[in-house]
Amino acid sequence: MIELRGIPAAAGITIGPAYKIGKEEFVVSPQPINQDDIPLQIQLFEEALIKTRKEIIELQKQIAKEMGQEEAEIFDAHLLVLEDRMLIEEVISRLKREHLNVAYIFSEVLKKYVDVFSKIEDSYLRERIVDINDVGRRILHNLLGKEYKTLSDLKEKVVVVAHDLSPSDTVAMHKQNVCAFVTDIGGKTSHTAIIAKSLEIPAVVGTEHATAKIKNNDMLIVDGNAGVVIVNPDKQTIEDYRQEEEKLKGIAGRFLAVKDLACVTLDGRSVNIAANIEFPEEVPSVKIHGAEGIGLYRTEFFYMNRKDLPSEDEHFQAYKYVAEQMYPHSVIIRTLDLGGDKFISQFEIPRQMQPFLGWRAIRFCLARPDIFKIQLRAILRASLYGKLKLMYPMISGIEELRQANKILEETKQELKEEGVSFDGDIQVGAMIEVPSAAMTADLLAGEVDFFSIGTNDLIQYSLAVDRTNEKVAYLYEPTHPAVLRMIKNIIEAAHNAGIWVGMCGEMAGEPAFALVLLGLGLDEFSMPPQVIPQIKYIIRSVTFKQAQDIAQQALRLSSGREVEAFIQSELKKILVNVN
Ligand code: PEP
Ligand code: MG
Repeated sequence: MIELRGIPAAAGITIGPAYKIGKEEFVVSPQPINQDDIPLQIQLFEEALIKTRKEIIELQKQIAKEMGQEEAEIFDAHLLVLEDRMLIEEVISRLKREHLNVAYIFSEVLKKYVDVFSKIEDSYLRERIVDINDVGRRILHNLLGKEYKTLSDLKEKVVVVAHDLSPSDTVAMHKQNVCAFVTDIGGKTSHTAIIAKSLEIPAVVGTEHATAKIKNNDMLIVDGNAGVVIVNPDKQTIEDYRQEEEKLKGIAGRFLAVKDLACVTLDGRSVNIAANIEFPEEVPSVKIHGAEGIGLYRTEFFYMNRKDLPSEDEHFQAYKYVAEQMYPHSVIIRTLDLGGDKFISQFEIPRQMQPFLGWRAIRFCLARPDIFKIQLRAILRASLYGKLKLMYPMISGIEELRQANKILEETKQELKEEGVSFDGDIQVGAMIEVPSAAMTADLLAGEVDFFSIGTNDLIQYSLAVDRTNEKVAYLYEPTHPAVLRMIKNIIEAAHNAGIWVGMCGEMAGEPAFALVLLGLGLDEFSMPPQVIPQIKYIIRSVTFKQAQDIAQQALRLSSGREVEAFIQSELKKILVNVN
């Protein structure tokens, strides 16, 4: 039994067998062969090609049945790679020339192809790397006699163990038999961690050594609350964790008891408590946990794991569904926030040295109004079916906000000319997640209906700490005085201008911070649905006056650690009856 420590990324405790996945490299060692073996090696290669072809056609049929013809056609590109004469001939001629095993020769040719394609300027052609890699791996597995496994083949619940997972990998786990995941790298507010929360599976990231220390099928306890992974636990440890799970369920039950009560302090100040979602399928969970609306609908996941762009109608159907389901509560749709750690293959995102500081979010949308307008049209059209609001991510100054609003006005005008109706008074907000926006919140406030503070980015940008990097995770401090002062400034600027202000960064759903945020005057807290009952419980347990005092005292402290210790002790006093 060994214990690995990492960063708790998504709460919950689970036990299951390890299933390691990785971006396998084509590492096949060269083995000399005799001249006489060449025909046999060619035969092996041809058999591997035929087998791979059969597998892909089978997969294509299955996908056509389950998802539709269009999705199945994605694999046409894979079949084309299999038939590529140049690739096949190069393997055979090198085999004859070099007298090395065919698996090695093939892996070398494949590497060369990938290398050539990765240097191509044309983004469409560069995209073919994904197909070449995918088919290449399949052929190699067949050549080496290994089975090619994907997450969708899983028959039993497993804990996925990987060096790293991108948000799109995590989205692909949706509806698969994955009960938790563990990674070597990554941070608490990376989108990979955020998706784990929305899938309601425990996750521990940033363990550094998980892939080195864990073997396939090792039994794992994943404690997503403490950020601990126990490898091959003994009976007593399993029993201890079971008890811990029971205890946590008991505590959760106490919080759940208040889920449908008003979110109001003991002296009558009400605040709105809303949910963050990434997929429309989360709406039932949002309702079960007692949210009074959706404060952040991250729409970019809609664009992932597909080869085309979502059409206006696809956007519309999703937004209409969420709007109708949540009515009479409101739903804030955040416009496309692509980039940073969220990449999707359809777009040409040039390799960026600093993706979080690069061409992302509103910057991308302003440069591609054609793509932006498709989403805006759908939001506007869906606004008739409930209470929709929209907000722009990553606004850094007033010019950007004005440009976005200009495109919105143009879109409204186009719809009017086409005779399409929409809610003309739809509220428009700006996310405040860039320090320059936080410092000029008074200027921005006059041009929007609300603000939503995105602390995940605000913290990373103001403290210069990459939110996805476990090595600097210790510096990622929501309680840093600089962060608290910025939040105070944003809330004051909003209130002075007569607009409301919410927070949809993960900070809003952390119990420890609820009292300070309440005391600073935040109007809406938006968070992963599962934590709503607990935050509601905390807010209902204090007076606004108490929270204001706590916020004032916290603002007088000089370091993040001091603030953290202070607010934890205040919270303990309030939750004294719960544990
Ligand atoms: C944030 O930055 O706090 C936020 C809510 O947006 P995202 O996590 O999607 O960047
Ligand atoms: Mg953000």
